Amino acid sequence: MPEVSERPLNFIEKIIEDDLKNGRVPEGGIVTRFPPEPNGYLHIGHIKSICLNFSLAEKYHGRCHLRLDDTNPAKEENEYIDAIKDDIRWLGFDWGEHEYYASDYYDQLYEIAVRLIREGKAYVDSLSAEQMKEYRGTLTEPGRNSPDRDRSIEENLRLFEEMRQGLHPEGSYTLRAKIDMASPNMNLRDPALYRIKFATHPRTGDKWCIYPMYDFTHPISDAIEGITHSICTLEFEDHRPAYDWATSIDGIEHTPHQYEFARLNITYCLMSKRKLLYLVNNGLVSGWDDPRMPTVAGIRRRGYSPQAMKDFVSRVGVAKVEGVLDFSLMEFCVREDLNRRARRLMAVLDPVEVVIDNYPEGQVEYFEAENNPEDADAGTRKVAFSKHILIEREDFMEVPVKGYHRLYIGNEVRLKYAYYITATGIEKDDDGNITLIHATYDPLSRGGQTPDGRKVRGTSHWVSKDHCIKAEVRQYDKLFSSENPGQATGNYLDDLNPDSLVVINGACIEQEAANAKVGDYLQFIRNGYYCVDSRDSRPDRMVFNRTVTLKDSWAKQKARMGL
Ligand code: ATP
Ligand code: MG
Repeated sequence: MPEVSERPLNFIEKIIEDDLKNGRVPEGGIVTRFPPEPNGYLHIGHIKSICLNFSLAEKYHGRCHLRLDDTNPAKEENEYIDAIKDDIRWLGFDWGEHEYYASDYYDQLYEIAVRLIREGKAYVDSLSAEQMKEYRGTLTEPGRNSPDRDRSIEENLRLFEEMRQGLHPEGSYTLRAKIDMASPNMNLRDPALYRIKFATHPRTGDKWCIYPMYDFTHPISDAIEGITHSICTLEFEDHRPAYDWATSIDGIEHTPHQYEFARLNITYCLMSKRKLLYLVNNGLVSGWDDPRMPTVAGIRRRGYSPQAMKDFVSRVGVAKVEGVLDFSLMEFCVREDLNRRARRLMAVLDPVEVVIDNYPEGQVEYFEAENNPEDADAGTRKVAFSKHILIEREDFMEVPVKGYHRLYIGNEVRLKYAYYITATGIEKDDDGNITLIHATYDPLSRGGQTPDGRKVRGTSHWVSKDHCIKAEVRQYDKLFSSENPGQATGNYLDDLNPDSLVVINGACIEQEAANAKVGDYLQFIRNGYYCVDSRDSRPDRMVFNRTVTLKDSWAKQKARMGL
């Protein structure tokens, strides 16, 4: 993987460098913007757009605006605006004073609309939405002019004013641009500029009951802010002529240009705010920040770091062709990052007790354990050891299968950081469950080696029974069990993974875990990467979320199946 500085320029960088070379960029440098609609939380796809817009501004010493595209008051909420800002900051980007709202431009947009009417370039149409659709024609057939297309300028002005005053019900009238009903581009067949909507806007309250449409608002907002490179996703390619139409309206001084790149899609993920909202509203997840959600709030609560996500989207690059990325590539980036930064701890998720019969009762000794073998600066911690320890139930087998190197009666294994132990016997309850494993330890194996250089094949992690905390551990997995949710049945809900969350009560974690804080990156040795849950964890009852497993069992399974 080439370093960022060495990688070839992407197509947008090439355009920008060409514009800079040819004097097409104003003095202050390039200006980009990230324009989310505050109708939901940001998802992983948005990270790509955020990184692209903010990084270009940084690289070329320009600036990037945050523009809340708030033109649909029925679906937009302040909660979303706050979450969006929080998520962008978490990613490490800063828009400074350049925080704008499309609603800031409502007065100007209204004036432009009136001017268009005066110049005979817009008209008030009374066709219903259905009729309008019918009149619009198809990709192969031209549209037909609305009977209202030739309404007089005076009448248009009067009706538009009445629309603004709230004298007409929703759906009764629309303001449309008069462009060309026979245009091969459907978006130029007299696009709607304004519609009537009686909704209280989070910012403008009840001042307006007519709201400008996206294709009118967005380009003019870009022009007003002096955006030089307006970058959006490919589905807007067909809208570019409408964008260019709007920015060339007489009196608009600055001409921004729109460039489109491919959306980021990931297998097993839904990246549509509408569908994500459905999951939230119907209690299928615990909220927008449910750690299984592909939202920024979700992955953040799950324990992904911003650096890992930036690494992921930069590996993906900026292209013109739509594709779907493997979920496992994202997890690979997350693991790489966590391997470097995560503090190691021992946690026993499914404990069974081992009593070391030849170890003195009541004695406690401490072993020095490295916090991160990948980071010499991470230091060490002390781990308590005693006669009564807990190991994973799966690290012992009463009747070992072939190739099993962990603990069984007569076998010797290493307890990580501590001693070699040999199992000598077991106790069971009435149901036949193992309740206690008896073992002996070799005092000469302190620290994990013996004077005779004897080797053991298995190493177990462990905690001292009286020196651990009990915690809840949430084992998260993919929210959907199909690569392309909904593909098989047409309903993505059919592909919800019933095992996407397994809650473990009473996991036993070494004492040091009590010091872990929200935002810390942890590895529970041999179990996976974890973090402290930001919502439900309490000092006296800690909750840990599994961020990602240590290895990609899925990729291996796929390889085995020859997929
Ligand atoms: P959704 O379909 O999930 O609702 P959207 O495009 O409507 O997404 P916006 O809030 O309008 O969401 O998007 C803000 C910016 O993020 C836009 O420039 C949009 O093109 C970009 N964006 C949205 N989804 C993706 C994605 N999957 N990959 C890259 N960029 C995206
Ligand atoms: Mg949108």
